[in-house]
Amino acid sequence: MIRRLTCPICNRELPPEIDGNASVFPFCSARCKEVDLFRWFSGDYAVVENLTPDQLYGLLPEDELPPELRG
Ligand SMILES: [Zn+2]
Repeated sequence: MIRRLTCPICNRELPPEIDGNASVFPFCSARCKEVDLFRWFSGDYAVVENLTPDQLYGLLPEDELPPELRG
């Protein structure tokens, strides 16, 4: 039995064509992806809200850091 992934925004099962390779993955649609982006920007995710820039950089892979912060 294969259990399909569900969209983290609307909790519907992802359509078969979205299976790790669609541009909207892991969401079911571009609309849900935008909702997620909006939540990030509006600070709904408290884990981001309370981080200082230094802490935030600490969570990123090194190749996504600005050059001056790379060790
Ligand atoms: Zn969705």
